[in-house]
Amino acid sequence: MPTLKPNPDTVAHQKSRCDDKHPQQEIPSLDRLLRAPELQQLQARAGRQLVLEEARAELTQLRQRLSGTNANSTEETSLDHLAAQIEARVGAALRMSLRPVFNLTGTVLHTNLGRAPLAEEAIEAMAKAARGAVNVEFDLAKGRRGDRDDHVEDWLCRLTGAEAATVVNNNAAAVLLLLNTLANRREVPVSRGELIEIGGAFRIPNIMRRAGCRLVEVGTTNRTHLRDFTEALTSRTGCLMKVHTSNYIVQGFTAEVSDEDLAGLAHENDLPYMVDLGAGALIDMAALGLPYETTVSETLAKGADLVSFSGDKLLGGPQAGLIAGRADLIAKIKKNPMKRALRVDKVTMAALAATLRLYAQPDTLRAKLPTLRLLSRPVAEIQAMAERIAPALRLTLGDGFQVTITPSKGQIGSGSLPVESLQSVALALRPCTTKGSGAALKRLAAAFRTLPRPVLGRITDDALHFDLRCLEDGGDEAAWLAQIADLRP
Ligand SMILES: *Cc1c(COP(=O)(O)O)cnc(C)c1O
Repeated sequence: MPTLKPNPDTVAHQKSRCDDKHPQQEIPSLDRLLRAPELQQLQARAGRQLVLEEARAELTQLRQRLSGTNANSTEETSLDHLAAQIEARVGAALRMSLRPVFNLTGTVLHTNLGRAPLAEEAIEAMAKAARGAVNVEFDLAKGRRGDRDDHVEDWLCRLTGAEAATVVNNNAAAVLLLLNTLANRREVPVSRGELIEIGGAFRIPNIMRRAGCRLVEVGTTNRTHLRDFTEALTSRTGCLMKVHTSNYIVQGFTAEVSDEDLAGLAHENDLPYMVDLGAGALIDMAALGLPYETTVSETLAKGADLVSFSGDKLLGGPQAGLIAGRADLIAKIKKNPMKRALRVDKVTMAALAATLRLYAQPDTLRAKLPTLRLLSRPVAEIQAMAERIAPALRLTLGDGFQVTITPSKGQIGSGSLPVESLQSVALALRPCTTKGSGAALKRLAAAFRTLPRPVLGRITDDALHFDLRCLEDGGDEAAWLAQIADLRP
């Protein structure tokens, strides 16, 4: 490549030739490097282009270090050393950045950690679908193009009592699609108490605008009455909507309009009533000893025409947005071109179909669906595990840290039931000296994050807490113990 700058390769050579104090600065050429046996093997394993790029980058950086004002003449430039450096760079480039971690944060449905862990049945179905051709949009009976939703629609209807259902990428997409289908260029009255933001960029007012709807705010933050909605109705109203305020609650002097009343008002005016339910419980959570959460079928029974909810929250499936309700409205949604842009792939469809089928047997549901199993795990079981694994952790950490077993307040996560905490048990790792303990804790947390399977906890009350609710007995526990044992000095 023509260049106006002096070739750093030649410069380095000239420098080393006239300065015999630093013979090690004879940098091997790119060609020579790539011909070295180690790098020949690496190219066969990892691909020629990748090795070439990393070798070039390594040499460029080395030359920069040697030519700068604070040039370090003790820089190692041997062929062996450089080959090892390049091998490490190639390894880092190929290492997956998306990796399994131990979620010991205490939050079960952790959005940043991928929410619901899937059932084995769902995982198997995903692998089968991923491996080759599947009839994702092909009707085998009729021998022609089918509807993608066919694989889950029946089961969604069975489990919710809906007439019809459809699936998109996530619940944010479901709300966008619903609003755009029912109320494009029309008005949608929503209670001021429900103009929520859910983690990141999902804000009801923004979604409304993107969906082409005009938001009409009604009522006040703490109190909204049926008459507020009645007064907001115009000939331009497209639908009525309720948003489940899943990640906060308004307490005190409050009033909200019931589903029954909103549905009644909507229907008197020939308008559809939609509910963004969020978590989307399909069964009674109270039966599992969890706080009560409105189910999809209850919401439909109260008069909602369409309900939207997530696949990877309380349902315990893959990321998806589900819409269940009236057949004529679902048909309209399926015709919206936006549906095509928001659809799910065959792998998600497979996982969702397998997850929904687990609900056929309520007796085995808890055992088979990790989300429900983890959420309803008895505290005594978590306590017993803490007692089993604390000694191993003490051995690993040595004298610098004190390890205690402590009650912990976990969370369901993903905005579900935000004020309810899950009674749990944690291992608290506390530096023995209080001086500089903040930095020591951060270093400790960082060290756990660099493990082959990173361990994520939570720093509170001057200790690193590992809430053990999501560390399952058996394989998970064994893997954790093996990793801790490996750390021992
Ligand atoms: C979680 C949630 C959403 C967003 O759902 P995603 O599946 O994360 O896109 C929307 N509305 C409510 C009420 C929610 O709880």
